[in-house]
Amino acid sequence: NGRGAAASDTGGGDVKAHFVFIPLMFQGHLIPAVDTALLLATHGALASIVVTPSNAGRVRPAVDAAHKSGLPVRLLVLPLDLAAEGLPAGADDVDKVPPDLWTNYFRALARLAAPLEHHLRADSDGAAAATPYPTCVVADFCHPWARELAANLGVPRLTFFSMCAFCLLCQHNVERFEAYAGVADDNELVVVPGLEKRFVVSRAQAPGFFRGTPGFEKFGDDVEEVLTQADGIVTNSFLEMEPKYVAGYAAARNMKVWTVGPVSLYHHRRGAATTVAARGNTTAIAADECLRWLDGKEPSSVVYVSFGSIAHAAAKQAVELGLGLEASGHPFIWVVKNADQHGDDVTEFLRELEERVAGRGLLIRGWAPQVLILSHAAVGGFVTHCGWNSTMEAVAAGLPVVAWPHFADQFLNAKFAVEVLGIGVDVGVTEPVIYRMDQKEIVVGREAVEEAVRSVMDGGEEGEERRRRARALAAKARAAVEEGGSSHGNLLDLVKTFGLGAGCFATA
Ligand code: UDP
Repeated sequence: NGRGAAASDTGGGDVKAHFVFIPLMFQGHLIPAVDTALLLATHGALASIVVTPSNAGRVRPAVDAAHKSGLPVRLLVLPLDLAAEGLPAGADDVDKVPPDLWTNYFRALARLAAPLEHHLRADSDGAAAATPYPTCVVADFCHPWARELAANLGVPRLTFFSMCAFCLLCQHNVERFEAYAGVADDNELVVVPGLEKRFVVSRAQAPGFFRGTPGFEKFGDDVEEVLTQADGIVTNSFLEMEPKYVAGYAAARNMKVWTVGPVSLYHHRRGAATTVAARGNTTAIAADECLRWLDGKEPSSVVYVSFGSIAHAAAKQAVELGLGLEASGHPFIWVVKNADQHGDDVTEFLRELEERVAGRGLLIRGWAPQVLILSHAAVGGFVTHCGWNSTMEAVAAGLPVVAWPHFADQFLNAKFAVEVLGIGVDVGVTEPVIYRMDQKEIVVGREAVEEAVRSVMDGGEEGEERRRRARALAAKARAAVEEGGSSHGNLLDLVKTFGLGAGCFATA
């Protein structure tokens, strides 16, 4: 009966839609899941977001601000049973989990199922309960245990991705058609099967979710099986950017795909200037200091350099990158995450560099207010690791990128930016570098950095074309999230379809 569709931007009313979001507790998964939950709440659905205590702090400012503004949204903070999985104290923050304990970490997350189910039932127990019974579980694809949870609750389950359909389809086809079968060399390039256009990848670049990660063999199979049984997929992309790949992935999975992005634009749409700078860790620079610095620069003159929440540059790489930025002649903001872990030489190098580029280069040691920076008119390009959120944020801001993938889905995202969207320049990395698991040292030299930055920021006619395409894409991105746009419509459709709980398939 479409009860949920009657919901308005103010929330409340008689809507009983209640979406339970279970993000993976990595910031690249958590941040877009929270933005998506907030977006659903703008359509009147109650959004409950499950987080562990250390992650609650990372998202509380945005959730509290939304709640204060009248949105029906709340955090469900559940501790992990660390001891049961042999994890040290503090390890509910994955940044503090050593890689050899990652399997334990995922098992600890799976233990959330029982307390979460208990909590959700208790919350909505009795006619006088303020919280409606859940109508839908939206779980990150890395939580195969959510299948049983949703089944126990008797509600549908959607799988959440912050990935483009191009990446999802390539990954799916490579596996479905066994593209790597008989290929001994991890770096040998193979053609992605089943696509109209020709793309090549290696197993090292696109191994598939949890494939080839020691200890995760069974987990990878579970993730795939549970995904095939989902009631649909929600992802942070938008239809107009990749209509063929969205349709192709939906067909390949035989499943509906709701594209709802770019979800970072939630903060702009709500006029939430304060929350745009409060996504994830506490920032190492005050938002107004950052804005003041940018205000003093020419439009589109600054290049922003950041590699997301996980990838860390090795010492030698940090030096080459710094020298490349200096040589490019462009103003830059460089987010140096692990500045203190490189030893005295690099500390000294960074200090001297800062002196030489004073006024032109800004180093942020720690977490940056990324979306705030990318949205500033002074920024003209983005050197990125092509984590999907960063890529989508570049698209939303209309910025061309230097594509510098490190691992996971980043090589496919880089391919998408460079070869499909035509908004990127490839820095030339062909093999993954995995933080804290480095097999070998791969360093992009200063000349390559300088050249890539120059071609994105200047680059003659080709550069101008790239910038024009990026701006046109951003206009489409903004239109997608506006009233009448595809992502906006998909959010409404989600509330309508999954706002009725267990009965939704009988009535939808
Ligand atoms: N981010 C940020 N400040 C930083 C680093 C990252 O706000 O200093 C945000 C960024 O805007 C994005 C997310 O963290 O939303 C990182 O996700 P992405 O998919 O780009 O990369 P990952 O961290 O998963 O590698």
